[in-house]
Amino acid sequence: MNCQDCGSKPATHLRPYQICDRCWVSRFSTQRIDGEDIPFRDVHKARLQGLDLWRIEGESDKDWGARCQKYSTLQERRLFK
Ligand SMILES: [Zn+2]
Repeated sequence: MNCQDCGSKPATHLRPYQICDRCWVSRFSTQRIDGEDIPFRDVHKARLQGLDLWRIEGESDKDWGARCQKYSTLQERRLFK
């Protein structure tokens, strides 16, 4: 059974909606910041943009991954394994 929202991935949640993990996050996952519930994906995007790690338009998966890996190594952070 495929996700009822995107139709392309297997549904991993069955009730109340038959949706995949990514679509579940889009619908329901939030983070409370200063008393306001902000969609998690917006928080994540802003964080990556602030670190200059958001994917550049036209950038390949490989190049983007290499850039993130370089940041991870240089900063000695454990954002990516
Ligand atoms: Zn989906």
